[in-house]
Amino acid sequence: MTSDLFIVLKAPNGKEYKQPIGLFINNEFVKSRSGEKIASINPTDETEIASVYAASADDVDLAVSAARKAFKDSSWRDLPPTDRGGLMFKLASLIEEHAETLATIETWDNGKPYSVALNEDVGEVANTFRYYGGYADKVHGQVINTGPDKFAYTLREPLGVCGQIIPWNYPLAMAAWKLGPALACGNTVVIKAAEQTPLSILYFAQLIKEAGFPPGVVNILNGHGKEAGAAIASHLDIDKIAFTGSTATGRQIMKMASINLKNITLETGGKSPLIVFADADLDQAVKWSHAGIMSNMGQICTATSRVLVEESIYDEFVKLFKEQVKEVSKVGDPFSDDTFQGPQVTKAQFEKVLGYIESGKSEGATLVTGGEAHKDANGKGFFIAPTVFTHVTDNMKIYREEIFGPFVVISSFKTEEEAINRANDTTYGLGSAVFTENLTKAHRVARRIEAGMVWVNSSNDSDFRIPFGGVKQSGIGRELGEEGLRAYTNAKAVHVNMGSRL
Ligand code: NAD
Repeated sequence: MTSDLFIVLKAPNGKEYKQPIGLFINNEFVKSRSGEKIASINPTDETEIASVYAASADDVDLAVSAARKAFKDSSWRDLPPTDRGGLMFKLASLIEEHAETLATIETWDNGKPYSVALNEDVGEVANTFRYYGGYADKVHGQVINTGPDKFAYTLREPLGVCGQIIPWNYPLAMAAWKLGPALACGNTVVIKAAEQTPLSILYFAQLIKEAGFPPGVVNILNGHGKEAGAAIASHLDIDKIAFTGSTATGRQIMKMASINLKNITLETGGKSPLIVFADADLDQAVKWSHAGIMSNMGQICTATSRVLVEESIYDEFVKLFKEQVKEVSKVGDPFSDDTFQGPQVTKAQFEKVLGYIESGKSEGATLVTGGEAHKDANGKGFFIAPTVFTHVTDNMKIYREEIFGPFVVISSFKTEEEAINRANDTTYGLGSAVFTENLTKAHRVARRIEAGMVWVNSSNDSDFRIPFGGVKQSGIGRELGEEGLRAYTNAKAVHVNMGSRL
C-alpha cells in the first residue's frame, strides 16, 4: 500500500510498518513545495529504502511560521508547566510502546546493530524526554535581595522558536537531546534531520501528535544541509540555533546565525584522547578503550580515537587490544544478534575512512589489524574492518583529524606531563579518558585535560543526566543534564520599585 505521504515498508527483520515520507509541519505531514525528494539508502546492501520529501527555504518558512504561531498561542504559552511535562511523559511512554519499530528503522537506515538501537538508543530517547519532562515545572527564576527599596526577581523565559540541526550517527537520540530541554522550557522547534538518515524521525513525528502537543510546537523537516539547514541557520524569525555535526559546518552555522544574533549551541567534532597509565587495570583499559572507539562503527563525536599508553605497558596493551578486536568486533548484518559492528552510514563516510587508511599507510604508521573494507557475503555494504595503527607521530593526519570510523591510533608516552601535553595538543576538546588505579593521579589529570568531559576508568560512558559538550573547536554550550536547560531560556530581570522616590 502506498499513498502520497505514507508507504508501507517491510524491514529486513520482517517488521512491517507505515513510513511517513512528508515534512511534519503543524502536526500534519505535507509534501515539500518543490516536490524534491531524498533517497534513503540501506548501508548494509546499498539498496534504496524509501524517498522522503526534502525541504527547501520555502518549506522552512512555513515551518517557522507554524512554530512562531504556536509559540504565541495560549494553548502552549499558557499551558501549566506541569502539563507540559505531562505531554513529555506521554511521549516517552509512546516511544517505549513503539520501541521495536523505531529501532528497526534506525538499524535499517543507519546500519547500527539492532540490539544497540533498541536497548541503548531508543531507551535513551525515552529516558531523555522523561528526564526533561520532570524539569518542565522546575525551571525557576530567582528573587534577588537588593535592599528594602527594590523587589527584584528573574523569570526564566523560553527563547522562542528554536532551529535544531542534527547529524546521522544517532538520529533519534540527537533529536531527543535537543527537543527535550527546548520543550521543557516552553520553546517551539523546527528540527532538521540529516539527509542520510531521514526515516526514524518521521515515524517519531507521529508520536508527537499522538502525545497531544499542540500543532506547530514541534516541526520536523528533512532536507539537505546547504539548502534546508542553511535556511534554518540564517532565518530571521528563528531565535536560537542548536547544531550537532562537523566543526566545518558548525563554523558556517555560526556565521549564518550571526545575521540576527541567534543564541547558539554547537556540538562539533573531536579527536578524544584516552590515556592509559602503567598502574591501570589493563584488562579493563583494553575493553573500555576498544568500546570507546569501535562502538557505533566509530561514528561517535566523543570516540576515544587517540589512545596514549605508558611506554612500559605499550606492547602488552597493543597485543591485548588486537585480541579484543578479533574477539569482539564481529562485522556484518546489523540485524544479526551477534553483530558488534554494522556498516558505515554512507558510501561517502566509507570512502572517507578508507582514505584515512591509505593516509596512515603512506605516512608510515604501522598497521596492526584491519586497514581495508570488509565485504559481506554479497560483496555489498559500507563495511570497514576495524583498524588499528601504531607507531604514529603527532603530525600524521590519522593522529590529528577526526576520522569517524572504527579506526584507532595507539601511541606511547613516558611521563604524566607528556601524556597531558599530548592529550591537549589538538584543536578539539570534547571527550577524554584516563585509566589509572591511583585516585590522586586520576583527579589531577582530569583537571588538566582540556575537554568538556573526562571519563575515569571508562570511555564514552555518556548519560542524559550529565552535561555533554566540548571546549576549543568541539563546540559551544552544553546539552543534557540540568546544564542543558540553560541553552533554552533567557533570564528576564524584573525590578519593582518599593518606594524609592525621585
Ligand atoms: P555535517 O556537519 O555536514 O552535517 C550535520 C548536519 O548539518 C546535517 O543535518 C546536515 O544536513 C547539516 N548541514 C550540513 N551543511 C550545512 C549548512 N551549510 N548549513 C546548515 N546545515 C548544514 O556532517 P556530515 O557531512 O554529515 O559528516 C561529516 C563529518 O562530520 C563526519 O565525518 C564527522 O567527522 C563529523 N560528524 C560529527 C558528528 C558529531 O556528532 N559531532 C556527527 C556527524 C558527523
